[in-house]
Amino acid sequence: MLDEQSVNALMAERALAEVVGFETDEVALEATGSSIVTYHGKRFIDFTSGIAVNSVGHSHPDVVQAIVDQAQKVTHVSDTMRHTPQLELASWMRARFAEAAPGEPWTFLLKNSGSESIDAAAKLALKVTGRKKLIAFDGAFHGRTILGTTLSHSKKAHWAAYEQFLEPLRANVHHAPAPRCTGCALTKSADACCANGLAELIDSFGDDVAAVFMEPMQGEGGYRPFSTEAAALIRKLTKERGIVLIVDEVQSGWGRTGKWFAFEHLGIVPDIVVFGKAVGGGLPLAGVAAPNSTMAKWEPGEHGTTFGGNPISCAAGLAALKLIEREGLLDRAARVGDAIMARMSPMIGQHGVTDVRGRGLMIGIELSKPDGSPDYARCEAVKRIARDEGLLVLTCGAKIGKPGTDNSAIRLIPPLNTPDEVVDKAIDIMIDAISTAK
Ligand code: PMP
Repeated sequence: MLDEQSVNALMAERALAEVVGFETDEVALEATGSSIVTYHGKRFIDFTSGIAVNSVGHSHPDVVQAIVDQAQKVTHVSDTMRHTPQLELASWMRARFAEAAPGEPWTFLLKNSGSESIDAAAKLALKVTGRKKLIAFDGAFHGRTILGTTLSHSKKAHWAAYEQFLEPLRANVHHAPAPRCTGCALTKSADACCANGLAELIDSFGDDVAAVFMEPMQGEGGYRPFSTEAAALIRKLTKERGIVLIVDEVQSGWGRTGKWFAFEHLGIVPDIVVFGKAVGGGLPLAGVAAPNSTMAKWEPGEHGTTFGGNPISCAAGLAALKLIEREGLLDRAARVGDAIMARMSPMIGQHGVTDVRGRGLMIGIELSKPDGSPDYARCEAVKRIARDEGLLVLTCGAKIGKPGTDNSAIRLIPPLNTPDEVVDKAIDIMIDAISTAK
């Protein structure tokens, strides 16, 4: 193992690209459960879960065992042949989808990352419909590939530098007004709901819209759940016009919101689901789910991957997902999420807190200036104070209407099995940080 001095020397080389925007210059030494210890001796409660990945915590013994066992059997065969972790995972996922989205059996294309799975889902929708327009919502985040970047409209830093290049792509990729449903009285009236902006956009393209991309709860754009009313409208519109509704569950899927999928809260069944992050139990894994007959529109060879659905990732993912099921972590996520919101909500109206929202363990705390505009500086200050006190959290947010970014919310995404006393301690730190931040 490297000592602290050697790690400092490596850090001083700055050989890693800074574009990633690391949250801190601490270097991870050991991570278990909800805790990360660094080479500089700092210990963090991890309320980021590696950006909504480590749902069963870091290095859970079941997941580690599955990784070790699989590494001793088959590590990689690509698409030369199938392997058992892939077959078992797809079968297990099919059973979950049969409950969440009943009907035809679902089929799975396994890949490495959310972004490339978004690209794959777009290709499938183009193939299925023979149309060429793609629509996403303001404030959306769908990834970092060129298409993911074009579809995304949350943080300006993600796309502004490439705008010249993206401009021609925007001829076929458009953004509809995002329903911002929390606290919106208009969602009660179908006529006034801003999901109607989608109808206008679709109408303006005649019959040329292939797909609408929708996060059931906007993630990077501010942890904003869609209302059931807005979702019903979007589902109705897309169904009527033969448009593929692609639900992006990369961040919200596989238990994070207290159900396997966030679309279940909305009472809709998507045409295609994109998933990632938590599905690999901490290893790179993601994919596209579609009913059999949709997936079968692709001829063999029309899409593919070298590494996607890697045996070790599939084995680790299956171990993590089975653990979520066996230990009742969906119910736990819902219960602990409610408890966190109950502790945070009384802060609304104080210290710049204007909203506490979310589902399960995907919670956003909105901070605003007295004039109601997003308080980016306060958000950053809260994050820094919390980190100094040993709690690692992220921020998120997007300015709707004007494309641009504002990290106006603190996001809480702890592992689903974080012990109650650790959650309590983390929320104590969060409340103190919000109370003292300027
Ligand atoms: N979609 C959503 C909703 C996401 O939150 C993310 C990642 N934050 C992505 C897509 C892209 O996933 P990845 O980083 O694995 O490419």
